[in-house]
Formats: sequence, structure tokens, C-alpha cells
Amino acid sequence: MKITEKKASTACSPSKLPGLDWALNPYRGCQHACVYCYSPDILHLGKEEEWGSAVEVKKNLPVLLAKGKKKITGPIGLGTVTDPYQPVEDETFLTRFCLEQLVSSSVCIQTKGDIILRDLDILKRIKNLEVGITITTMDQETARILEPGAPPPENRIKALAKLSKEGIRTWVFLGPVIPGINDSYDSLGKVIKAAKEAGAGKIIYDKLRLKPLVRQRMEKKFGLSKASKMFQLAEDREWVERVFIDIEVLCDDAGLVGEKAF
Ligand code: SF4
Repeated sequence: MKITEKKASTACSPSKLPGLDWALNPYRGCQHACVYCYSPDILHLGKEEEWGSAVEVKKNLPVLLAKGKKKITGPIGLGTVTDPYQPVEDETFLTRFCLEQLVSSSVCIQTKGDIILRDLDILKRIKNLEVGITITTMDQETARILEPGAPPPENRIKALAKLSKEGIRTWVFLGPVIPGINDSYDSLGKVIKAAKEAGAGKIIYDKLRLKPLVRQRMEKKFGLSKASKMFQLAEDREWVERVFIDIEVLCDDAGLVGEKAF
């Protein structure tokens, strides 16, 4: 793992994601190395950079945030193209130092990292906070294949339960749903049941987004033939509708709100 430091020129960038005015990404790159991640496509990373093998630490972000606080109004999304609680955060405390500057803001954190619990003291002080935990499957082996650097789903659910119990508004991001991997009624149902039991307020769900670098990594991981069948189904309207209806039904049965991602 190559970890380097980088000086950021701005603290946040404007965000077009629904409900967010700003995006704050303490790192460039992500050790969770999810096979379906389309951040490398958004960041225009080259083919030569193996996703998950290098992380840049934007160490000066807390200073930039402290200086620019007055200008940053409106909701801030933490971790829109990286995970703010990936393993390196355990050493750098960078996300924690950024959050200390944001206690008077509206913050939305999305993560797979259970080390978020380390920062409960600060999270509870943030004026307006919601935390989304991504869970694509409750099956540990499938999660290991899809998200090799991320904590197992059980740990994520435990973190979610703790956050909910502490009065923090939480939701689960169930996505992407990938044909033949995590699209069965049983698999979707297990995630939704676990989310409900852990106190999540809603489920946000999404389909697989087939950006060029995602295709490449999936072909490498699953082999050309299996990957091309996945790609075909992932773009098939009937398959997508079937999956989304299943999720809505399961959410309704569990008493949860289901919300399609942007
Ligand atoms: S945790 Fe998020 S940012 Fe990190 S690799 Fe996975 S999908 Fe990408």
C-alpha cells in the first residue's frame, strides 16, 4: 500500500449530489478497494493505478476548513469519492480533525468503516448529522470478494446499531445491486432485515454503474464471460425493475422507507 501526503488547494468542492452543497474528501484513493467503485472513473485515474493500492492523504484539510468555515454553508457530504473511515484513518485521524471543524454544520457521512465509532464523541456534537453505512450483502465471503479491504458486513451492522442507539440518524446504502451476486430476494432481504434491526431509518438503493474502469476491474475479477453476462443484465430494464420492486416490497414489509439513489 502506497500512502503519500498531498497538499489540497481547497477544503471542499461544490457537490451536485442531491441534498448536498459541498463534498469533502480527506483522501484520494480508497483502501477498501471495492470492485464496483466508480470513483477512479470520476477522479480520472489512469489504468496503471490499481484501485485500492494507493492513498493520498490531504493533511492540510483541517487548516483549510478552519480558515474557510464561514464560506461553507449548506450540507456537506463527507466521503463522496473516498471512504473517510478507511484503515489509514486509524493512523492519521484526518477525518476526525476535519469533523472537529464542522460541529456547527450539516454533515452527511457515508462509509463502510466501523472505526467511525472512535469518533462518537464528536459525531454527537455535530449540529445536524446523518450517517449512511454501505452494506451490499450480509454474506461475508461475497463481501470479501466485492469489497476486499472493507470490514465484514457484521461489523458494519454493529457500528450502525451503535450509532443509531446513540441517537444519530442512520440509513443503509444497499448498492450496487449486481446481477447474480447480491440480487436475490433472499440476499436483499437479509440486508434490509439487518438494517431495520440495527435502527436504520431508511434504505437508499442503487444499481451497478458500468463506467469503463469498473468494467475492467469486474472483467479481471469475475472473468470475461461471467462479467459480460453481468453487464448485459445490469443494463436490462426488466432486471433493474424486478430488483427495485423487490427492494421496495422488502422495505415496506420491514417498515422502512426505500429510496432510489440519484
Ligand atoms: S468504500 Fe466507497 S470509495 Fe472506497 S472503494 Fe468502496 S465504493 Fe469506492
